[in-house]
Parts: sequence; structure tokens; C-alpha cells
Amino acid sequence: MVNVPEIFGSMVFNDATMKERLPKATYKALKKTIDLGEPLDISVANVVANAMKDWAVEKGCTHYTHWFQPMTGVTAEKHDSFIDPVGDGTAIMEFGGKELVKGEPDASSFPSGGIRATFEARGYTAWDPTSPAFIRDTTLYIPTAFCSYTGEALDKKTPLLRSMEVLSNAACRTLKLFGKDVKKVTSTVGPEQEYFLVDKEYFDQRKDLIFTGRTLFGAAAPKGQELDDHYFGALKTRVKDFMADLDVELWKLGITSKTRHNEVAPAQHEVAPIFGTTNIATDHNQLVMETLKKTAEKHGMVCLLHEKPFAGVNGSGKHNNWSMCTNDGENLISPGKNPINNTQFLFILAAIMKGVDEYADLLRISVASAGNDHRLGANEAPPAIVSMFLGDELEAVVKSIVEDKDYATPGKVPMHLGVDVLPEFKKDTTDRNRTSPFAFTGNRFEFRMLGSAVNIACPNIMINTIMAEELNQFCDEIEKADNKDKAIKELIKKTFTDHQRIIFNGDGYSDEWPVEAEKRGLPNYRSLPEALAHFDDQKNIDLFVKNNVHDEVEIKARKVITLEEYAKTINIEALTMLEMAKQDILPAVSSYVKELTDTALAKKALSDAIPTSVEEDLVTTLSNDLVSFVEKIDTLSEDVVKGNDIEDAQEKANYYHDVVFAAMNELRAVSDEMETITSSDYWPYPTYDELLFGV
Ligand code: ADP
Ligand code: MG
Repeated sequence: MVNVPEIFGSMVFNDATMKERLPKATYKALKKTIDLGEPLDISVANVVANAMKDWAVEKGCTHYTHWFQPMTGVTAEKHDSFIDPVGDGTAIMEFGGKELVKGEPDASSFPSGGIRATFEARGYTAWDPTSPAFIRDTTLYIPTAFCSYTGEALDKKTPLLRSMEVLSNAACRTLKLFGKDVKKVTSTVGPEQEYFLVDKEYFDQRKDLIFTGRTLFGAAAPKGQELDDHYFGALKTRVKDFMADLDVELWKLGITSKTRHNEVAPAQHEVAPIFGTTNIATDHNQLVMETLKKTAEKHGMVCLLHEKPFAGVNGSGKHNNWSMCTNDGENLISPGKNPINNTQFLFILAAIMKGVDEYADLLRISVASAGNDHRLGANEAPPAIVSMFLGDELEAVVKSIVEDKDYATPGKVPMHLGVDVLPEFKKDTTDRNRTSPFAFTGNRFEFRMLGSAVNIACPNIMINTIMAEELNQFCDEIEKADNKDKAIKELIKKTFTDHQRIIFNGDGYSDEWPVEAEKRGLPNYRSLPEALAHFDDQKNIDLFVKNNVHDEVEIKARKVITLEEYAKTINIEALTMLEMAKQDILPAVSSYVKELTDTALAKKALSDAIPTSVEEDLVTTLSNDLVSFVEKIDTLSEDVVKGNDIEDAQEKANYYHDVVFAAMNELRAVSDEMETITSSDYWPYPTYDELLFGV
């Protein structure tokens, strides 16, 4: 039996531990930094460092690491031991404020998108006291931000913290208009994480899964997700054991893992924590992904976080539930019982509508990855077009304001199930819409376009910055008005009217929607290269520079990094395919053809009366397929060689999408066709049947 309260947060230097171990004055000073963003004094850092070290050593730690999130999207760590030789051949364990506050890793091997070409290779990590330190194995992990010698952010955390700060300022300013004196507003996030589990023995036999995280070949299994029997289905024992173990590991790290269930596709599952401060939620989501992988291995499985490990069944995403909360605990996205009279909520809703409409491109860009391209715009998960879903109630409120009509809040209707023993409850005023990329879900917005492997910092940097910008624009206008109440009402009405095109309550998967969206002038960027081309559009540069979230150098660098990463990812996939095709698939099919040929010849030798048409037909079909297969191999090989010579990042990414990726799909089609008629004794890889149903 797990004693959950006892293990929860036991590996975290959390508030309770700090309160217990820090002198009162130090604790108070640190809390001011954490809660109100005040600068931290080095004398305070010294005391904190010492207490942290004592705590970590008691728990068996020998090392510490500055833990950061470079632009690779995954986390980075370099361990240093606490030892300090004292001169007589012995050593003590030491850790000072200076080491806590600042680290100097060599930045030269992390992507910088050209920032380093112009500046120095030196990089700094700076302690982020707002995200608590924690222990994994025998190392104390200190969450840090990572920047270049000249202060450019080289990571995902720095801009995230900047965006949270500008949003807080803008939201506090907004609340002043409504007579509220609030010190801090925090953006909060609850990310739902999807993943696949496959048996490690099968995984180890597939180069594509090992090198790229997804299957590059593979014919569909006879059964997919068509029966809808996996979603919320009973958990298999092996999966349940894994999930139980996962929860324990997450709880120890103070991660509020709450919900777990089977997802739509076979072998697909989901885990969701209770929402928290965006910065911590981001660190936690990174830890969730890492813990998923580690725990799966302990159970003889591999966790796939790729957005589309298998063709033909659903891919994996992440739902980013976002809201804003004041330090007094007021959720600013909560409409209350009577939204039509909740002017503050409508004001904020108007800002969100305007922001999502004006910066739809940035939201799309923030979730762009080679893996996510398989989902967005590919008849699955949300489309690549950004739109907003408000639900019936809010939509009616917006409409009544735009059209100057009366509106009465309907109130919640009781749900009658027609059976007396079942409890009665009240229905929500709004149904759900699963296809919308940016959906209102009662007291938060759910941004659903994220890929399962993405670092959630990126989309939240965008959402926070966009919101800060819009709220500040609104404040600029209202603050100078003589009659503020009237100005606010007019502004809400005007914004709702001007930005109605972003609202879409229909089916986002339907064929009609892209046509309709185009009429409305909404962008539809189907691929990463197409989307990224707009990252440094002037309006976007202006947004980031004005709000001090990114300078122009950072934006251009991030664009180049993302484009380069895309081209490299496709290049690795193409090379892996070529290796599999030439070394495994071609010889396997050829051997099978030989066996069929031998069989036919043997039959003929025995007697002319024995029919050999079955073998001969198969030999002919497979031989023709092999000719076509080799042609496609040659084309892909040549395409890859050409791609390597392209210098310009945008041009290269475009080429990899238009030419290389297309050639890969053609090669795969021939192989998948051959797989369906080749003896399983000869097929060199575990099949979709085994991968999807083998756990
Ligand atoms: P569903 O799949 O039904 O959307 P889940 O329970 O799987 O819901 O996940 C919902 C997520 O939204 C959880 O992480 C939850 O904590 C989070 N959430 C709830 N309220 C808020 C809020 N105000 N701000 C941000 N996230 C929230
Ligand atoms: Mg869910």
C-alpha cells in the first residue's frame, strides 16, 4: 500500500520543507521573490543553498545539477558533486549561493540559431526560484534559465518567465479598471498528456522506432480503433501496474498526477495532472515525459511520445488547459453564473478573441513540429486552422451584444435520467466540442493543437504574450476615456463585432470548414515550413519586442532553429527508411520470392498436372513491386543528396517537405503493399498487429 500523503512531494524542496529548514527571515525574503517577483539577495541565496544541500545529502544525494530547457525542447543537465577538498586529504560537502544562483555551462553544443556566431560561446544558467528544486536518483535538480553571454535567451524557460511577467502586469492593470487592487496574476496550465506503450522486445527490432520514434513502414492491422473499445476501456494488468508505478514516481516529485485512462487508439493512453502555475506546469510536464519513458522501461515496455507513431490510427497530442488567476484566487476566465452582466469577464473574453484572431499564425507556429504535421490538417485532431469555440451560452451572449438584443441567462437544467435510484444533477450549460483548437471549457480555454512531444513552454509563451498585448491595448484606450463604463461597453461590443470570424462552433474535421475558413480569411498552414515562414512577420516581431519577451535576434534565431530541426528530422527519417528498405525489406521479399519460385519449380518437377499459378502470380506481383520499390529507393536517395546541399533554412525545410517527405510516402506505400502479401516468416519486422496489440 502506498501512503500517498507521505510520499507526495517527498523529493521536492517545497514550501513546507523550506519553512521547516530556513531561518524565518530567509524564508520570508525567498517567498517575496517567489510570490511577488522581487529580486533576490546573495546572502539569502547562501542560506538557501546550504539548507538545500543538507536536505539533499540527507536523502542520499552526492551531486547537484542546473537543469534547463535548451531549444532542443528536451531538458539538459550536467552534474557536479558537492565535494570540496579541505587540504588534509579529506573532503566536505559544500554548496554556496553563488553555485545555486549561477552556472556556466559551455553553450556551444546547443542550438542557438546563429546567436553564437555573432556572440560568445559562453552560456549561463540562472536559478529560477519560482520552480522548486527536486531530487532524482542521487542528484539535486535546480530548475534554471539558460542564456547567452549577452543575455539572449537560449532556452524555453526565459521567454516563458518574461511572458508570465508581462501578462501579470497587464492583467493587474486591467483589474484596476474594475476597481480591484491586485498584486499579481498568474497564468495557470493543466496539460493532458497522451502517449503510446509498446513492448520493448518489438521496439528493439524496429530501427524506425529506435531512430525516429515512429514507424516508417507498416501495413495496417486488421483491427484499429473502429470499435471505439479502447477509449476509457478497462486497463490491462500490465498497463495498470505501469500507471500505478508512474503515479508514485510523479507524486514523489510533487506532480499532482490525477487522471489516467486508455485513449482512442489501441496502445494509447493519457495522464493528466491538476493544473498549476504555468512555469511549474511546464517543468512538471517535462518531468512527466521523462518519467513515462523511464517507468515504461522498468516494465519491459517503451513509451512513444511521437505525435504519430502509427499510420491509420489516432496520433498523440497534448491539451493545454489555460487560465489566469489572481493572487487572491480569482479565476479571470470564470464567467460566473451570469456572464452577460459580468463585464470584467466579457472584457477579458474580448481580449482573448481579438488576440486569437490577430495572432492565429503564432498559435499555429507555437505547436509546429515535424511530428505534429502528421496530425494538424491531416483529418485528425484539431485542424491546422486556428479558431475558437465558445459553446452555446457564451456564443449567445456575444451575439446578443453584437446585435444589441436582450439576453437572459438560461440557468442550469436538471438532468433526468428516468431512473429513481440514480442521483439527479444539473447539466452544464454548454456541450463540448472535441474538434476545436481553442475551446472554452467552462472556466478555462483548452488549446488542443499541441503535439504530444512538444515543450508546452512555446504555446504558453505565445498565449501569455498575446493576452498581455491585447489587455494593454484595451487599457490604453479605456484609461484615457472620460466615461470609463461606457467606453468599456463600447469596446467589448466593437471587439466582438470585429472578430466574430474567429468563432467556429461546427465540426472542425469536416471538408467544408477549410473552405469556409478561407472565405473568412483565416490562415491554414498545413505544414511546419509553411507556418514558420510567418514567425518573423513584422507584426509578430513588434509583438515580442514591445512586450520584452523576445528581441528580434531571438525570433530570427528561433525560426532558423525550428526550420533546421525540421529538415534534420526528415533527413534522419529518410536515411532510416533507406537503410531498412535496402538492408532488410528488399532481401526479405526477394528471399520469399525465391522460396515461391523453388516451390513452383519443385511442383513442376513432380508433375505437370500440379497447378503453380498461385506461386507464379505472387512471384510476378512481388517481382514487379520490387522493381518499383528499387525505383523509389533510388529517387529518395537522390532527393536526400540534393537536400543536403541547400543552405537557406527556409528553402531547405520547404524542400524536405515538398520533395523528400513526398518521396518517403511513395516508398512506404510499395513496402506496405508488399507486406500484406509476404509470408510473416519472412517479414523482417514486428507488424502493426504486434506493436498495437502486443502489450
Ligand atoms: P478533459 O479530458 O475532460 O478535458 P481532464 O480532467 O483530462 O479533462 O483534464 C483537464 C485539465 O484541465 C486538468 O489538468 C485540470 O486540472 C485542468 N484545469 C481545470 N481547471 C483549470 C483552470 N482553471 N486553469 C487551467 N487548467 C485547469
Ligand atoms: Mg482528458
